[in-house]
Amino acid sequence: MELTNISNIKSLLSRHGFSFSKSLGQNFIINPSVCPRIAEQGGCSKSTCALEIGTGIGVLTKELALKCEKVVAIEIDKSLEPILNETLAEFNNVEVIFDDIMKIDLSKLFKKHFDGKDVVVCANLPYYITSPIIMHLLESALPIKSITVMVQKEAGERICADVGTRESSALTVGVNYYSSPKKLFNVTRGSFVPSPKVDSCVIRLDIKESDSLKLENEDLFFKIVSACFSQRRKQISNPIAAVFKIKKDRVAEFLKQANIPVNSRAENLKMNDFVSLYQVFLENEVY
Ligand code: SAH
Repeated sequence: MELTNISNIKSLLSRHGFSFSKSLGQNFIINPSVCPRIAEQGGCSKSTCALEIGTGIGVLTKELALKCEKVVAIEIDKSLEPILNETLAEFNNVEVIFDDIMKIDLSKLFKKHFDGKDVVVCANLPYYITSPIIMHLLESALPIKSITVMVQKEAGERICADVGTRESSALTVGVNYYSSPKKLFNVTRGSFVPSPKVDSCVIRLDIKESDSLKLENEDLFFKIVSACFSQRRKQISNPIAAVFKIKKDRVAEFLKQANIPVNSRAENLKMNDFVSLYQVFLENEVY
């Protein structure tokens, strides 16, 4: 069954009495060119396994199953189960697990399903938890090669912005710490049912080798980054002083030691500036 055909989708959903949940971010792809492109540019191959998040009716799942050795998909909405039993019936290399991506034990899942295999993540993400999902996957230190995801257009552009530019955010720094992000292509709002209020884009995060930049105290690094961006257009010394409960002249001293002008804003700092500042905090044992 062609899963991007709107009348097929309507009859499938009504036969199963399914109704869309806005709060679960359910917008299903109906543009037939999108899923093949995600699978292709997401690095799928017959010797690769894919982890999908949020199957919907299985339109991307199907494409991944055709191109990959094996697909494990996590879907929170159990009411999609009878639909997926029907749409994915022809595939014996797909397993759908009904659970919450934020709660499931991913290292256990990887051991069980992907042990020793190359794994890519491909998904049309539920937009209400885009950033938490991306950071969760990156922080879990899973053996993943890349993460290729559909996100809201603005979110994608922020993630793919260069660190140290006006568009950058704490998420940009976080993503760049673990990976090299790249915007792949835009997807218009009319490519989904129901149609969301914003356009989307597909991005790919190529995971860095684990020995590239590995800081001893990542919590401290991210605490500094999030402090700096908590008032993103303001000078960083105020929020740093507030978050770490230290005097402003001590912050000024730290910034000087890290070679960062005291009037800097978060959007002016490059990755190596955040790292230098982190090292000064570490040396001074301010956590
Ligand atoms: N991949 C499908 C569906 C995308 S919509 C398509 O492109 O057509 C997003 C999907 O994510 C929905 O099926 C929704 O139920 C699911 N989802 C939402 N929150 C989730 C969570 N926390 N864990 C796993 N899946 C989730």
